[in-house]
Amino acid sequence: MIYENIVRNEDNIKLSSNNVFCSFIRGPKVDINGDEQGDYYIQFIDKKTNQIKYETTIKNNCWAKCNIEYYVDWEIKVFHKNQLFHVHNFNAENKRIYIALDSKALGDTLAWLPIAVEYSKVHKCKLVVSTFHNKLFESQYPNFNIKETLLQKQNGRCYACSNFIMKDNLHNCKLKYKIHLKNGGQNNIENVGLVCPHCYEF
Ligand SMILES: [Zn+2]
Repeated sequence: MIYENIVRNEDNIKLSSNNVFCSFIRGPKVDINGDEQGDYYIQFIDKKTNQIKYETTIKNNCWAKCNIEYYVDWEIKVFHKNQLFHVHNFNAENKRIYIALDSKALGDTLAWLPIAVEYSKVHKCKLVVSTFHNKLFESQYPNFNIKETLLQKQNGRCYACSNFIMKDNLHNCKLKYKIHLKNGGQNNIENVGLVCPHCYEF
């Protein structure tokens, strides 16, 4: 190849290194992004008991997820070449936490909402809740009608496929980052779009 004969400036050659991205949407998940070939051994640890809830080994450009969806004080450890490569401790402080109350029952909603609010106080996080009875709470809690607000902003259409979303189908719609956090997207409402059930994937 002609390129082989080009004089290279060795100073400009950088070793690539893969990135680890941890998220906590319906359970803790680790993405290893990057083109450097390698194996990554991952532990999902309950810090309270020091128990490994799930462990696995994945390659670069793969992901691993523990199927526990309830709250656990997570520590995620990633090992590469038998060395600790990355540690992530779950910390909700000042983060925007989305809780979906997905029971249609009014009694469930009334019972669960204070617990969600309590969670936000304990973890000092910014709470966003969706329920089937938002109207009841709008005056009490801001950020409540986030799906309605987004739907209006999107002129009643899905952010991804532009199909119309019926208001009574809103509870099946999901929030999705327009630019994913791991690609540099901001963690704020401007970067969130409402997508129809067909367009939603983890
Ligand atoms: Zn769609």
